[in-house]
Amino acid sequence: MRFIIYFIACIALALSSCKNENNPSQSEKVRNMIAASKLAQDAHSYSRPNEIRVKHLTWNARVDFDKKIIEATAIYELQHLAPADEVVLDVKALNITSVQVDDIEVKYAVSEEKPFIGASLTIPVKRDSKQIAISYNTTEGAEALLWMEGEQPFLFTQSQAVLARTWIPCQDSPGVRITYDATVKVSPGLMALMSATNPTEKTVDGVYHFKMDQPISTYLMALAVGDVSFRSLGNRTGVYATKDLIDVSAKEFEDMQAMLEAAEKLYGPYAWGRYDVLVLPAAFPFGGMENPRLTFATPTILAGDKSLVSLIAHELAHSWSGNLVTNSTWDDFWLNEGFTVYFEERIMEEVYGREYSEMLALLNKQDLERSVEEISAINADDTKLKLTLVNRNPDDGMTDIAYNKGYFFLRLCEEQVGREKWDDFLKKYFSEHAFQVMDTERFLDYLRKNLASERIEEKVNIEEWVYKPGIPSNIPIVNSNRMELAKSSATKFAQNGDTKAIRWSEWSYQEKVAFLTNMPAPNLMQIKQLDKSFSISSTKNNEVLFAWLDLAIITEYKEAYPQLEEFLIRVGRRKFVAPLYERLISTNQKDIAKEIYQKARPNYHSVTINTIDEMIK
Ligand SMILES: [Zn+2]
Repeated sequence: MRFIIYFIACIALALSSCKNENNPSQSEKVRNMIAASKLAQDAHSYSRPNEIRVKHLTWNARVDFDKKIIEATAIYELQHLAPADEVVLDVKALNITSVQVDDIEVKYAVSEEKPFIGASLTIPVKRDSKQIAISYNTTEGAEALLWMEGEQPFLFTQSQAVLARTWIPCQDSPGVRITYDATVKVSPGLMALMSATNPTEKTVDGVYHFKMDQPISTYLMALAVGDVSFRSLGNRTGVYATKDLIDVSAKEFEDMQAMLEAAEKLYGPYAWGRYDVLVLPAAFPFGGMENPRLTFATPTILAGDKSLVSLIAHELAHSWSGNLVTNSTWDDFWLNEGFTVYFEERIMEEVYGREYSEMLALLNKQDLERSVEEISAINADDTKLKLTLVNRNPDDGMTDIAYNKGYFFLRLCEEQVGREKWDDFLKKYFSEHAFQVMDTERFLDYLRKNLASERIEEKVNIEEWVYKPGIPSNIPIVNSNRMELAKSSATKFAQNGDTKAIRWSEWSYQEKVAFLTNMPAPNLMQIKQLDKSFSISSTKNNEVLFAWLDLAIITEYKEAYPQLEEFLIRVGRRKFVAPLYERLISTNQKDIAKEIYQKARPNYHSVTINTIDEMIK
C-alpha cells in the first residue's frame, strides 16, 4: 500500500511465473509448506490458526447496489493441525444467517464486538470435519466497502489492515494464507474484478468467475464492481478503468511492462501471472493497494506526463515484498513497506535513471524527517521500526516510519555491503521465504547470519535502527544536485522576490515540490506572485497541487479556496486530505475545515473518515 501518511498519522520462486499457475501439484506443495509453519499470535485476530486453519475459500456472492449489501456464502476447507473442537473466524458488522459444517446446520456463537478487531465467530467442529459454510450479508457497518452512487455506480473494497472481516468471515491475520475461487453476480452492464484471474469483457448476465490458485493473506482479498473496460499494455500487463479514464490511463501506464521486466531482472520471476492495474474513483483512500494480480490505484496519479508512476512501481514491488513474503503481524509492517519503497526506488532507477530516483529519495527523506518530528511529539515509540500495536488500530502503524525509515535502513545495508552482495542476499531471502510470513526478529537473524562476513552488525547499528525511536545519525546521504538547487531557489526567492530566476517550467515535479515545501516563512504576496508567474493553481500534477494548496492555506490565499474545496470533496486519498484539514485546523481555520468536511464526508472511505473524524471533533 502506498500513501505515506504524514501525521496520524524473488525471487526464484517456489512457483515461477504464469506458466505454473495451473499446476496443481506445485500449488499443493506450497500449501503444504505453509501449513507446516507455526504462526505467531496476532493481537488483531481472534483466529487460532495453529489448531485449525482455513485453506481454500469458495465464495458465492451477489452484489446488491440498491440495498448496498453483498449477500454471500463463504465455504472453507479446513486443515486440522492440532486437536480442537471449534474453529474461530474474525467477523465485524456481518449479519450471519446460517452456518453449516459438512452440510449440517450447526449452532454458532458470535462474541461481542470490540473496537478495531470486531468479533469472533466460533463454530463447533469434529476432529475430522472437512468444511464449513457461512451464509451472511454485509451491513452498513462494512468498513472495507465504499458504495458510490450516481450515474456511475461503483463499489470497491479496501481490506488492509483488518477490514476483510467486514465483508468476508475469515481468519484475518496476515500469516494465514488461502487460495480461493469465487462466483460473483452483479447487475448487467457492470464488470466485477477481484484479486484473482479476471475477465477482460463484460458478461451479458453479470455473472463472473474468479480463481486465485496461489495462497494469499486475507488483507489482499479485493473486489471492485463498476462500468469499466480493459486495455492491454503488454503480454502480461494491462489496465482497467471507466470510459472517461481508460485512454489516459493506458497512456500514463505505458511503461508498466518495462517496470515488470525491470523488477524481474532485480528480484527474479514475477510469481502471479498477470499484473494489471484498476484505476478507481478518486474516493479511494490510498495511493494504491497491492491486491495480487490487480493493483487498485487512485486516479490522482494520472498527471498526463507519467510523472507519478512511481506509485505503480511501488505496488508492483509488493508482488515480492508483502504478497510473497508477508509481515507476520501488523507490528512488523515495516517489513512489507520498507522493502517495497526500497524496491520501488530500484525499479525507478532501472527504468528512469539514478538522477530521477534520487530526487524521489530526497522527497522520502524530507517526509521522514517531518513525520518523525510530528509523531515524536505524540508518541516517540511510534517512530521505531518494530511496533507494538496491541489494543490499538493497526492503522496507527501505517505511517511514514514503516515506509521511509524502513527504506533508509535497507539502503544503508546496501551501501555498507555493496550492491552486488546485497542483491544476492535479497534474491536468496525472497526465494527461501516465498509464500511465508516473516517477523522482525527472524529477518534480523537471517540478515546477521547471512551477512556476518560483511560485518553488517557493526557497520549498520541494527539495534538502533529497528528498536530505537528517531532517525539514526548514519542515515544515507541522498545525492541530488537538482533538488538542492530547487531548495536553494526557494531560499533565494524568499530573499529577493525574483521569480525570473526560478526555472519552473523546466523542473520535474519533485523539484517543484522541493521548492514549494522549502519556502522559508511563505507569505501571501509571494504566493500571489508565484501563481501569477507560473499558474501553479492550474497544475495537473496532484503532488504539486497538494503542496500548493497547503501553502495557500498557510498564507490564506483565498483565490485558491474554491479549488481547495473542490479537491477535498472530489479526492478521498488520505495522504492528501488529512494534512490539508490538519493545516486548516492549525491555522485557526477550523470553521472552513468543518464546512468542507460536511460536504466531503459522504464521498470518503471509512479509512479516511476515521482519521478526519478524529481531527474534526
Ligand atoms: Zn505499500
